Formats: sequence, structure tokens, C-alpha cells
Amino acid sequence: MERIPHCFESPCVVCTARQGETHRLGCPGELCPTCGRHLLSCSCMAFDAETNARMVRILYDEMRNDLAEAWMATSCFPWQSPVVIAAWLVIGLHHPEQIQRAKFFNAFGAAYFLRPSAFHPDGTAVFTVRDIVTLVSGGQDRADALVEAFRDVDTGIRVGGLCLAQ
Ligand SMILES: [Zn+2]
Ligand SMILES: [Zn+2]
Repeated sequence: MERIPHCFESPCVVCTARQGETHRLGCPGELCPTCGRHLLSCSCMAFDAETNARMVRILYDEMRNDLAEAWMATSCFPWQSPVVIAAWLVIGLHHPEQIQRAKFFNAFGAAYFLRPSAFHPDGTAVFTVRDIVTLVSGGQDRADALVEAFRDVDTGIRVGGLCLAQ
């Protein structure tokens, strides 16, 4: 799929792409070649699995320390949009207790359907990258590419003393 270059005379305020240049991957200024809306928050899946996974990783790294932004993304944008996949990874991998709280409140959306692979002895859920992306990535190829792009993150959260989910 052909990417849409920056179209205004003044440079992109986020990635500084000039007119006619392609935005940096993950720049919120890029438009979707399928629907014409903002690429990060549409669910057209315009990019191939690998490019999509790289883009989600960039967004995750930017959002990693901003839980409020992650929750906002999940409530504002559609499932399978890159920003929402990144947001569920931030919440599920690093704040799994918030997914459990959301379940208590019967939250609408992915939180309700997420199933952890394991639990700590104290009852805290442990979600792996695959637990999360299987639900929101939009297909096996896309899930596989995301698991690969987050391999280092996933390894970091695997700790001893886990109890497998029933
Ligand atoms: Zn840009
Ligand atoms: Zn689109």
C-alpha cells in the first residue's frame, strides 16, 4: 500500500517531514491510504504485518509511561487501530490489575475479553504479548509479527512463581 506523504507547505509539526516526504513511522500526522483519516487511529490495517508491528512498537515505547493516555486511546479509537493495540499492551503488560478491575465493572471492550496466561500467587494476572494481540491485532500474521516485535518486553515480564491459568 502506497503511503501518503506530508501534503502541506509547512513541515509536519511532529516529525518535521517536508511537503512530499513520507512521515516518520508512527507519526500521528500520517493519513491512511485507504480511508484518508489518521492512520494511527483507523482500523483499515493498511500496512503489512511487519510494518504494522514496528509502528505499534514505536507507539508503545512513546506511551509506555502514560497510563492515562493509554486508557484514553482505548475509549476513543477502534479495535485493531495501531494506537489501541499499543495501548492494550501498555495496560495489559504493565498494569494487569487495572484489567482485572475493569472486568469487575464489566467494562465494555477488549478488557472484558482479555484472558491472562498465568497468575502470581497473590492473584495478580499475567498477560503475555500473545494474550493481548491475539484479541486485538486482526489476524494470525499480525499477531505473530507483534509477538516478534515485543519479544524483549515479553521476556522481561516472565518471572518465577507463576501459577498457570486454569
Ligand atoms: Zn509527521
Ligand atoms: Zn484507514
